[in-house]
Amino acid sequence: MTKTYRNIAGSLKNKIDSPPEDVVLGITHLRINGELVRLYKCPFCLFKNIHEDEITHHIRYKDNAEHDVDVDKLDKTLYNIPVVKKQSRYTYVKKEDLPLPSIRCIWCPYEDKVVRDLEWHFLEKHKDRLYQMKLRGYSHIHPYYTMEYRAEKAANLAKRKCGIV
Ligand SMILES: [Zn+2]
Ligand SMILES: [Zn+2]
Repeated sequence: MTKTYRNIAGSLKNKIDSPPEDVVLGITHLRINGELVRLYKCPFCLFKNIHEDEITHHIRYKDNAEHDVDVDKLDKTLYNIPVVKKQSRYTYVKKEDLPLPSIRCIWCPYEDKVVRDLEWHFLEKHKDRLYQMKLRGYSHIHPYYTMEYRAEKAANLAKRKCGIV
């Protein structure tokens, strides 16, 4: 019973976990029977295979100038596919360098240039304040608003207070 449960939990975990950073499915790895299998690439063309030997074979028998090398002396690390790290477009530029005005929190001295991050600050530090917020014009339904919606409203208010609209 315990074992079965663990197996199910194990397979679920594999599905939920995001693959390691050097894995780009279809480029560096293939998923074969649920396992991630590393791909190798010919350094001279786009030929790829999951078996290193296949790459060697391919280079040895490919009959053109690009592949005219002594494959036995070839550095096999050239078969590895370099991984270009995925870069988030939001972290690419450092926040300090963003050409944006800072928005001050309406409840404390915290400030942020990124509205989404200010909203996160509200959710993290000022949940009570958000909950007590009077949403003018919508008082009849305001208890039903989500905290995210309130955070958005608070951010708008903060922007207005700083003169950013
Ligand atoms: Zn090739
Ligand atoms: Zn604050």
